[in-house]
Parts: sequence; C-alpha cells; structure tokens
Amino acid sequence: MKIGFIGLGNMGGPMAANLVRAGHEVAGFDLVAPMPEGIVRAGSAAEAARGAEVVITMLPNGAILRSVADEVIPVMSQGAVLCDSSTVDVASARAVADQAAAAGLLVLDAPVSGGIGGAVAGTLTFMVGGTEAAFAVVQPLFAVMGQKAVHCGASGAGQSAKICNNMILGVTMIATCEAFALADKLGLDRQKMFDVVSTSSGYSWTMNAYCPAPGVGPKSPADNGYKPGFAAELMLKDLSLSQMAAEGVNADTPMGQLAAALYRQFVEDEGGRGMDFSAMLPRFEGRGRG
Ligand code: NAD
Repeated sequence: MKIGFIGLGNMGGPMAANLVRAGHEVAGFDLVAPMPEGIVRAGSAAEAARGAEVVITMLPNGAILRSVADEVIPVMSQGAVLCDSSTVDVASARAVADQAAAAGLLVLDAPVSGGIGGAVAGTLTFMVGGTEAAFAVVQPLFAVMGQKAVHCGASGAGQSAKICNNMILGVTMIATCEAFALADKLGLDRQKMFDVVSTSSGYSWTMNAYCPAPGVGPKSPADNGYKPGFAAELMLKDLSLSQMAAEGVNADTPMGQLAAALYRQFVEDEGGRGMDFSAMLPRFEGRGRG
C-alpha cells in the first residue's frame, strides 16, 4: 500500500519501519526525527499525504493532530483513510473525524498500547474507532504493526477505550505501590507479598506482569533503576485526558481524579519526570501519613 506516515518519534519510527519491512511504500514526515531506513522523507506533512491510500499520524497531542489534519485533509485523495494512532483527547479525535468525513475521506482513531517495545516488535494493540469500511482498509497494516486490533465503535471509541484502560492502569499501579509500602512498614517480606497477592484477589497486571518492587516478579523497569518503560509523565498525560473526558460527560471518577493529582505531584514536584510510572513505589516508601 502507499502510505504517508507523519510523526516518526519513539513510537512512529519503529511502526513505520515495520510497514516498510512488510513491503509497503512509506513516505514519512517529522519535524525533527530521523527517517528509518527505506522511508522516503517528504518535505511536509501534505507532501507525505498526497496520493497515499492511508495516512497514519503518531503525534504528541490533540492540538498538533488538529493542525496536521488541517494541512493533510485538503490534499488527500477521495476515499483514502486518515488513521490517527496518537493518544489524544476524545474531542480532538471526533473533530478531526468530522472534518475528514466532510472532505470525503475515511477516518479512524486508533491509539495503541504496548509502548516502544511493542512498536519495535510489531506487537501493539490497536483500539479503533470509526466505520467498518475504514477499519477494513487499515486492518492489514494493524496486523503488521500489532498483534491485535479491536474495533471499538464509532469515531472517538478508540480514544475512549484507551483512556479508560489507562485510568485503570494508573489507579492500579498506585494501589499496588502503596500496598507494597504498607507491607514494608508492617515488616512483610516483598517476595512473600508478591507470592500471595499475585495468586490472590489483589492480583493485577501491575503486580503480576510489571511488579514495581525491584527483584520481585518478572523483569520490569523496577529492575532497571525505574528507567522507562512507560514514563510517569505519559501516565500523567493519559490520566489528564481521562479526567477531561469525564468532565465532558459528567462522569464521577474520584479514583482517576486522585491518581491524576498524585502523578501530577510526582512529575512536577517530586522528581518523577523521566522515571517509569512504577517509581511511585520509592515515592511511597519515603513517606508517612502526614
Ligand atoms: P515522540 O515525542 O517520541 O514522537 C512524536 C513525534 O512527532 C516527534 O518526533 C515530533 O518531532 C513529531 N512531531 C511533532 N509535531 C509534528 C508536526 N507538526 N509534524 C510532524 N511531526 C511532528 O512521542 P511517542 O512516544 O512516539 O508518542 C507518540 C504518541 O503515542 C503520543 O500521543 C503518545 O501519548 C502515544 N503513546 C506513546 C507510548 C510510549 O510508550 N511512548 C505508548 C502508547 C501511546
């Protein structure tokens, strides 16, 4: 397929490289990132998008997505698909979808989970919002870049699924970390804590697959000095998006709200920027109730 790829950073670079490896023709555009081998560098986002059957964007936020969409939508061919895989606010995803549909394009919001490792290995999960017709066109590309693509519903449904998942993840990570810190103070060995919880009703992905305690459970960023992994500031971004969305639809999300506030404090005031999001454990370790 002829693909335009805009935003070739930590995630977009390896995703685009996998498309080239699978035999697709990719024109790429990024303001700063280098082009992976085999990708033709376009001079602008519009140039990357012109004549493409599918345009994929992997950008930092909704405001940038909207400005790139303004640039590419007018030059895209009728019936081509604009597929945004960035994590952005639901309102931006829906606004871009309306704009693209009005211009005769197909459109998907298709954020991912799986991180940089998943992008490199081609094992991402795509959560997709948009029409069946658009999903069918891009599905072979999802199969190259990922191991699973779930069609979640109409435009915005992909972003909705992503922020709900990550709200659970953020809240659960905090609960796991505070429980380890409490167990420490109660004199409970961390390995014993893991052995019990990972096979009891407190188990979760954060405990069983991504344990925040170094030397316990499977290898995780905790075993690598809390180098990300999934950075605390990205968790803060996703939690903030979940709270924006919750405000927009008047949903009561007290745990998500508190998790967002704790990650904000951690990132902005407590040295958490650049640390993995599981570094909440050393944060809790050092604190008392006061
Ligand atoms: P990144 O900052 O490494 O990459 C973003 C790229 O977009 C950069 O290379 C930047 O130069 C480029 N860019 C910015 N404005 C542009 C413009 N106007 N035109 C062209 N290029 C432009 O970020 P990333 O880690 O690759 O994340 C991308 C998206 O994926 C984000 O929305 C993020 O929330 C989401 N995400 C990231 C992870 C992760 O683990 N890194 C996991 C899941 C989802």
